Amino acid sequence: MNLSLFCRSALDFFFPRTCVVCGTRLASSEQFICPMCLISLPIETVETDWQLNRHIMRWRSEHPSLQRMGALCIYQRENAAAKLVHEVKFARNHELGIWMGRLAARRLASTELFEGVDALVPLPLSPKRLRKRGFNQAEALAQGISEVSGIPVRTDLLRRTAERESQTHYRLAERFRNGQGLFTLAADSVAPGSHLMLVDDVLTTGSTMMSAVAALEPLSDIRLSCFAWAWVDMSPEVWSRARREAGM
Ligand SMILES: [Zn+2]
Repeated sequence: MNLSLFCRSALDFFFPRTCVVCGTRLASSEQFICPMCLISLPIETVETDWQLNRHIMRWRSEHPSLQRMGALCIYQRENAAAKLVHEVKFARNHELGIWMGRLAARRLASTELFEGVDALVPLPLSPKRLRKRGFNQAEALAQGISEVSGIPVRTDLLRRTAERESQTHYRLAERFRNGQGLFTLAADSVAPGSHLMLVDDVLTTGSTMMSAVAALEPLSDIRLSCFAWAWVDMSPEVWSRARREAGM
């Protein structure tokens, strides 16, 4: 047994670590999540371009700079993907966020999602929210993706101009309205023709992501893609109805 494994085993004996999804005690070699929960993660089967980009059809007419949109998991209330997101945010588990980013980059390495991307741009929090949480969960995900893919992270490009309450209890139409005008461009030092990928934890209506897309669009000859750890698998009918209700 090497020294680090010995130390981990000793620590586990005195301070047992448990799976963040089901609470089972973890073995020394396991991190954050037990093998059973890892297998049961609701991972998207990204096999076709349509699956990879299913959200894009809804937005491309308004944002022609959009290239790709993708997610690793399907988000449903209380599923394993959702529990991991909550653990990062509300238990302030920064390391778990980075681990989730690494997992996403490895699992999606065989798809074209990250291909040719010049920089990852995590959606920023407001300074007040950042102080409260101690870190930005989108930035943790981007850091993990970067460690595996080698794509650099840019945190200087976007600034958050408004923060909202947690949206979990909001109706879909309200989420559309709340998603507008959240970000501004904070720096313009991007080579013309660059391909930037926005990163966030959850994509519901997509309106928050599109607010960031709109802020980056003035950059010269820019190409934009989006990645979320998990997205809500919403039918086109539900999506369109909520948007009409929001008056958009
Ligand atoms: Zn588990």
